[in-house]
Amino acid sequence: QAGALGREMGVSVYAVGGFVRDILLDRPNLDIDLVVEGDGIEFAQVLSRKLGGRIRMHKKFQTAVVILPDGQKVDVATARLEYYQYPTALPTVELSSIKMDLYRRDFSINALAVRLSPDQFGNLVDFFSAQKDIKERNIRVLHSLSFVEDPTRILRAIRFEQRFNFRMDRQTERLIKNALNLNLFQKLSGGRLFHELYLIMEEKEVLACFRRMDSFNLLQVLHPLLKLSDQLESILSEVERVLNWYRLLYLEPNVLSWKVFMLGLASSLDDAQFQILMRRLNFSDKDERYFLAVREGLAETIQQLHQWQGRAGSLSELFFILDPLPLESILYLMARSQKEEMRRHISLFLTQLKTQKVSVTGKDLKAMRLSPGPVYSEVLRTLHAAMIDGKAVDRNSQLILAGE
Ligand code: ATP
Repeated sequence: QAGALGREMGVSVYAVGGFVRDILLDRPNLDIDLVVEGDGIEFAQVLSRKLGGRIRMHKKFQTAVVILPDGQKVDVATARLEYYQYPTALPTVELSSIKMDLYRRDFSINALAVRLSPDQFGNLVDFFSAQKDIKERNIRVLHSLSFVEDPTRILRAIRFEQRFNFRMDRQTERLIKNALNLNLFQKLSGGRLFHELYLIMEEKEVLACFRRMDSFNLLQVLHPLLKLSDQLESILSEVERVLNWYRLLYLEPNVLSWKVFMLGLASSLDDAQFQILMRRLNFSDKDERYFLAVREGLAETIQQLHQWQGRAGSLSELFFILDPLPLESILYLMARSQKEEMRRHISLFLTQLKTQKVSVTGKDLKAMRLSPGPVYSEVLRTLHAAMIDGKAVDRNSQLILAGE
């Protein structure tokens, strides 16, 4: 549809970037990126109208996002010659605008395009030997100033390397080292740095990315005391194991993996140092408070769990110890537990206790003419505990409990 519309409007339309890369790699990718040689915004407006979607425009960047009725997003960008003035740019007269658009991208494997116009539909546009790099499993930058232009590409290179099991070529690796020697990474804004780190921490192979970062001394750039010691490596490896276990169960809610990894990464830092790291990454005050509170809560919970184990407490007590904690905190606790028994208990909480719902609500209590007040939560808690501990509870006994 996009290609046909392009022809109607007299512009060339291409699918580009990760979408094309993933087709060649035979991997799923639902983010569609289009580049239009012409007015991308106007094209996006007409496309959105035709497909019954919504549109968000960024006129300054000549880009738009079309959100289709099924929720699918299509990014539309404008390729224009005068747009890209790079120190390394080839003579512009020689370049078509799609070539310029691809040239400013991070790696050859992300600089592929596919023509969508009906007469040339599906033709691959490969100016930078991307197909060869995909075949040879290479991550390669397009020009020698790439990391100087944008040091976040260093983390992107590491992320793609580990995700696809590719390898940077020697030149790309050398250019990363040069950029790091120039301290370019230090100049990156916290927000951009965190965004790339966040993307890494939401990948499957997080530990492998951290290992690779450490090989470039990049953890120390985040915080001078961060180093992938054997201890930190084993903590992160346990975090990864626990997260994989949780994801495989398809439990609700979804876990925010980055938060669990962040707790692991900061495990060797005290609160003041952790705060320095969070400030470097431009965390919001809210996130800062969240992490500090979680760390404080963890110490307390560990103590409560030990006591609970010591006195062979009931399952409902276990439930009420863990239930107030955020999921990420519980999974981190599981990863840090040395004893198998403790892990089993946490796993029992997540897979069975947490998923049981009390069917009685405050409304039911009201219907039973119990006058509202703090007693409600006490009654509900007692019912919940009874349910967890396996006591049969029927409506009558609820009344008895309510009268207690
Ligand atoms: P993912 O599968 O992780 O979403 P992606 O390749 O689709 O990977 P995006 O971050 O969505 O990555 O970016 C889309 C495209 O934009 C990339 O394929 C790449 O061509 C280009 N791109 C993104 N970030 C940069 C960057 N920092 N420098 C140059 N090009 C970039």
